Amino acid sequence: MPKIYFIDVTNRDGVQTAKLGLSKLEKTMINIYLNEMGVFQSEFGFPTTKHESLYLKANLELAEMGVLQPIRLGGWIRAIVDDVETAFKLVPDIRHLNLSISTSDQMLKGKFQGRKKKDDLISEMVAAVDAAKALGTESIGVNAEDASRTGLDFLIKFGLAAKEHGADRLRYCDTLGYDNPFTIYETTMALAENTGMSIEIHCHGDLGMAVGNSIAGAKGAIDGGQDAYINTTVNGIGERAGNADLVAVILAITKSKGFAGKCQLGNPIDLSKSAKIAEFASYAFGVAIPMNQPGVGANAFAHSSGIHADGVLKDPENYELYSFEELGRGEPVKVETGREIIAGQYSGISGFSHIMGKMDVKFADREEASEILELVRYANVESQKPLVGEELLFIAKYPKIARKLLTLTPLE
Ligand SMILES: [Zn+2]
Repeated sequence: MPKIYFIDVTNRDGVQTAKLGLSKLEKTMINIYLNEMGVFQSEFGFPTTKHESLYLKANLELAEMGVLQPIRLGGWIRAIVDDVETAFKLVPDIRHLNLSISTSDQMLKGKFQGRKKKDDLISEMVAAVDAAKALGTESIGVNAEDASRTGLDFLIKFGLAAKEHGADRLRYCDTLGYDNPFTIYETTMALAENTGMSIEIHCHGDLGMAVGNSIAGAKGAIDGGQDAYINTTVNGIGERAGNADLVAVILAITKSKGFAGKCQLGNPIDLSKSAKIAEFASYAFGVAIPMNQPGVGANAFAHSSGIHADGVLKDPENYELYSFEELGRGEPVKVETGREIIAGQYSGISGFSHIMGKMDVKFADREEASEILELVRYANVESQKPLVGEELLFIAKYPKIARKLLTLTPLE
């Protein structure tokens, strides 16, 4: 039976969201948390964007060291030969890529303004796939941007051409959130049946259906005989109305009527990391988690009305589909209400040693403490807010990697 995998795109679609962004250290922490959760792949950034180079290399190094294992790190570029060559020039060790090109008539007319014909889209895409293969790419997804406004026949032709040149997956992008669960199911099933390729499902929430469309699209791919790869972002952060929320999609697949127990996940997911990753992303992006967010919102397990409170006290299953413990909630949280010593960009050695000591980190000598503190200062310059404990621990444990993440020198 075909399986469902997750490709999280927080570090690509999430960070390209207007008014939002993450520091390179925050992006790295997201990769670490996704790995802990069991997510198959992180679309970890833009290999043709110069300021991403050191971050991407540092994260590939973490993979090499076994820190970011078994998660796959995949880059996003345009499906043109030029981008493939630039990606390998800037990040020679990149091994997984998604190549993207718009496929709809709207984009041919409105974006390319008649400069490209339909067949040009295919010839450019296959040339990019060939180049990526030749340069050593191990897995390739081809993205049909605005696929939901593209004719099915052309999408099949596009997918088959990509497959013939060695692409592994076809990403069906509902770029504008135009699909509904019925239409996307039909389309992804037809694509799976007619291309024989694994189908990636990339949904947006412009009509409020990103999560529903993601699982319907995945079901279509599976019923068409192929594996499904669902694109998610943490807390649904993404362009305009956002993407499919990672935790909500996992809950929908594992808990919903007709899905629960029937769909096989490609690799086991540790839901107990949900609260942690959602809270970190909320802090890092500076975007509060809505109180009614599935699973991780403040009200997800709150009951007040008489009948519900009475019912849930008698048996939680009366009014809860899943338990808070499963999502990693329920542990007491210590909030400092008295004196606080915080590491910032102007911190000194005494305060910093105190903070690290509270987390049981002891430095060999003052020199080592100063070296780590210097990196923490730089990290604060980039993030402009106090680092969380796990960021401080990361810097103390991997100072060489941290130095790379924090080096932002404009390249020639
Ligand atoms: Zn998108």
